[in-house]
Amino acid sequence: MGTFGKIRRARVRREICVACGCCVPVCPKKAISVFKGMYAQVQEAACVGCGKCAGECPASAITVEALSGEGCV
Ligand code: SF4
Ligand code: SF4
Repeated sequence: MGTFGKIRRARVRREICVACGCCVPVCPKKAISVFKGMYAQVQEAACVGCGKCAGECPASAITVEALSGEGCV
């Protein structure tokens, strides 16, 4: 058990996101984009949960969370 093998993904809280786009260029997987100038969204299949986007967000709108129910990868 422990944290080994946890799959992590970034999650955007849309109500907080100000659609500044600061998170977009720092993502090594190009997994985050700003949807129609309204809020950022994460492509879960591409995100590796590195947290770089969260570190750039001036609004603290991004959290990196462990997905539940996943095994080791
Ligand atoms: S956690 Fe990393 S891989 Fe996922 S969207 Fe943010 S910068 Fe991209
Ligand atoms: S950096 Fe934060 S506020 Fe800016 S678009 Fe990304 S999630 Fe939204």
